Amino acid sequence: MQNREFILGVDVDDVIMNYTAGLRRFVAESKNIPEDSIPDPDSWNFSNWPFSDRDDFLKYHTGAVDAGMFETAPVMPGASEVLWRLNDLGIYIRIVTACFVGKGRHALAGSSRFLWLDKENIPFKDICFIPTKTDVYADLWIDDSPKHIEAFNEAGLDVIVFDALYNRHVTGTARVKSWYEAEDIIVDRFVIWEEKYDSLRSTSME
Ligand SMILES: [Mg+2]
Repeated sequence: MQNREFILGVDVDDVIMNYTAGLRRFVAESKNIPEDSIPDPDSWNFSNWPFSDRDDFLKYHTGAVDAGMFETAPVMPGASEVLWRLNDLGIYIRIVTACFVGKGRHALAGSSRFLWLDKENIPFKDICFIPTKTDVYADLWIDDSPKHIEAFNEAGLDVIVFDALYNRHVTGTARVKSWYEAEDIIVDRFVIWEEKYDSLRSTSME
């Protein structure tokens, strides 16, 4: 049996980066309306925002990415300090993002992700840009997307749901409202995994 690390799969948008705040700022400026007139999204299509339909939402999403949103959106409180503590504990941090962008925008979307991760001092060992997250491995996931959370559940994988209005209908291993809440759960899971792993390893060496 090979020695390996406990892998935490970490989503970006609305988990470590406040995507909603970044998009809200762009939409408010574009439409010349106050930011506080735009509510927290209650569905994955932002149907309670001033968009005519999903295509209109996607148009604003692309416009915001082009305007540098992925470099300027705020970080979620505690994300950097908690991830550093988890990293220093020996947890392998894998960033996994679907990062949907259009043709010809991969360099912009990818490079702005890296710039932002460095700017906000987010530790990670590797990063995957992939829409089907269950195709890569992690011992524990943290995500806000109902679609990804359901896919993790179907695959029998542990997922911490990062709470949002639009994901209240799905459940996971746990639900958290902040990185400080997530930290305790991740550390507990890591300790249990290490104990199991150590006992498996010692059994296999007998
Ligand atoms: Mg997300």
